[in-house]
Order: sequence, then structure tokens, then C-alpha cells
Amino acid sequence: MSNAASPVTSHPAGFRQVAFLDLAAQQARMAPALRARLETVLGHCQFVLGPEVAELEGRLAAFCGAAHCVGLSSGTDALQIAMMAAGIGPGCAVFLPAFTYTATAEVPLVLGATPVFVDVDPDTFQIDPVHLRARIREVRQEGGLRPAAIIGVDLFGQPAPWEALREIAGEAGLFLLDDCAQSFGGSLGGRRLGREADATAISFFPSKPLGGYGDGGALLTDCADRARLYRSLRSHGEGETRYDVLRTGMNGRLDTLQAAVLLAKLDLFEDELARRERIACAYDVGLGPHLRIPARVPGSTSAWAVYAVLLPGAEARDALQAELRGCGVPTAIYYPRPLHLQPAYRPHHDGSALPVSEDLARRILALPIHPELSDADIRHVVEAVVDSLRVAGIGPG
Ligand SMILES: *Cc1c(COP(=O)(O)O)cnc(C)c1O
Repeated sequence: MSNAASPVTSHPAGFRQVAFLDLAAQQARMAPALRARLETVLGHCQFVLGPEVAELEGRLAAFCGAAHCVGLSSGTDALQIAMMAAGIGPGCAVFLPAFTYTATAEVPLVLGATPVFVDVDPDTFQIDPVHLRARIREVRQEGGLRPAAIIGVDLFGQPAPWEALREIAGEAGLFLLDDCAQSFGGSLGGRRLGREADATAISFFPSKPLGGYGDGGALLTDCADRARLYRSLRSHGEGETRYDVLRTGMNGRLDTLQAAVLLAKLDLFEDELARRERIACAYDVGLGPHLRIPARVPGSTSAWAVYAVLLPGAEARDALQAELRGCGVPTAIYYPRPLHLQPAYRPHHDGSALPVSEDLARRILALPIHPELSDADIRHVVEAVVDSLRVAGIGPG
């Protein structure tokens, strides 16, 4: 298939180069629709807040049943605008999981607030509500910071424990934000993610399940006042007219060209989600007897941004990764370090141990999962993993 690495003949599984992500193949599937969309934008030249942005906002809101959608320049900016609108700033404690992407902790810090890291569930990898309650209590007792917000992250495509998070946020009077950057398209209790919290941030980074061809993001909310504030903040805090500056905002708009790309992609999205689910099921069946496959959050469907398995330890994980590379199977580690141990964030951490997040960082490994994987690719990944475990002498974790 490819000359990317030399064949490893000791593997019965053999060599077949599998892609971790294949945006070129996806582009080929929608080429005519994509080109027509782009031509339209090139024709009208409304590159900032052109009609495609409003059209996409309407379709995304309808997709998940949210009342409002505001297109933004990235998932990170979506988190930031939601936090700015909620008045998060110096003196505020923002509770978030330690096992997530950098941006979740970065945004409170950029606004002068303090991230308070919470450990995650060892099976689902989602924020642990019991530890969250304990952390809020600790911050209250400590007295220096005001508990102000919770960012629940829908990690890897699956939902955070939203019922518990809503209960905790309600009791404590905290703003509840859904970082759904990885998981738009997933569902909980038969309802698409996008309405679980006061606001939901999504990302169109190219590798996310609904990825664009550059940076992009959006905020979803059922609250008209919030949506109005988000629209103002994405355009420098403007009021009724552009030169009416009501508040300090930012330049955080979604580009018209990105909206056009995403409109073309949205037509494929349901099929892609179904394909990702079929791949996950094939992995579950083939790999379940051999290693720790991802636990499904009860009552949910996943957008399968990431299919992550757990190995018994760091050595086994690294050995499997090397063996798989020799079979043409690329893997990735999300995340090699929990956020509270990152050099930039460590000084803001109170020193609490977060043992589950630390353990996952040593043992987790993500396998390729994207809609362009062929049935032969899927079979090869399963064979290569089973075979590599045997070659590396790794037993079930
Ligand atoms: C990707 C991601 C973000 C940031 O999205 P960008 O569009 O890249 O800014 C935020 N949170 C999580 C959990 C992510 O995975």
C-alpha cells in the first residue's frame, strides 16, 4: 500500500499502511458539492459573516435542537467568549478535568481566573462528579477564590456525566459550560449533545469529527440573551452598529469560507458518524478479549473522535505503539501528560494528587478511527494489535 516504513515480516498480520486521518479521501467524496459552495463565496465575496455563516449556524442549531448557534473563529475562542460573557475573571475558580486538551485550562488562565483540576473516572475517562464536589468544597474552605464555573468536557466523543454536573452547578450556583470540541454529533439519553449545559462550545479543527479546513468553532445555547452577547463579543463588543462599542470583546468570527466547507461536510456527517460507530464496534469485538476497550457511557452514542485502549502500563503501551508502527498502523497518545503536570499550569495547581489522570496518561493509546477506513483497514488494525500484543508479550491489562 505504501512505502512509509519497511515491512515487518515476523508479523503474520503483515504490513499495510493505514492513515490516522484521511482528509484527502473525504474531500474526494464531496468534491462537487464543496467546489460549488466555495465558488458561491468567491462569487459574492462576503468573506466575513457572509450568508454561509448564518446558514451553517441555523443547520447546526437544528442538528442538535439548540435555540441559538454563533459561529466563531475556533473552539478555544468559543470557550473564551462563553467565559467572558459569564463574567469569569480574576478571583474566580473554574473547575475542569485534568485529563483533557490544553485549551480547557488555558482559557480561564487567559481571563485571569484559576483552573481547579478535577480527576476523571477510570472507566469512561470523563470528569468524576464525586471528586468535583470535593474540589468545590475545598475551594470554599480555602476561601481565597470564588467558585464560579464548571467546564464539563465531552472527552473523545462521549458525554460527560451531565445530569450530575447540572445538579452540582445548580446547587453551587455555578456557570456550566460544555466543552464539546471533540464530541459534536454524540448524544445522551437520545438527544444530541449541544443542550446539556448553559452553553456548549464546539470546534471545527480539521481532525475533529466535524472538521473544517482550518480553525473554526461555535457556541450553542438555548438562551437568547447569551447568544446576543456571544455575537457582540465575537465582533469587538459591538452594539446595534459596528461603531457602537458596548463591551471589551475580540475578533472571534467564523470565516465564510470555513462555513462553506462545513456546509458541504455537514451533508456527510450522519453517515460518517454511523461509519465511526461501525468501526468502534468492529474494534470492540476484535480487541475486547485482548485489552481494555473504551467503556461506553450508559445511554449515550459517541462521535468517536478518539478510540482509546488501555494497556497494563507505560512500557507495554510504548512497546505496542512501536510494534504497530512496524505493521503500518499509526497510533497517538491523548494525553501523554495531565494538565496539572504541564509546566505552564503546574504553578496554578494546588498540589492535589489526581491519580486517575496520571495513570491514564501512562497507559492510554488511540487507534485510527475515521470514516475513510476501509473494511480491510479495520481488519488489519485488529490483526495487527492482536499480533503485536503477542509479539511484545503483553497480556490483558
Ligand atoms: C480541540 C479542543 C479544543 C480547542 O478547539 P480549537 O478549535 O482547536 O481551538 C478545546 N477543548 C477540547 C477538549 C479540544 O479537544
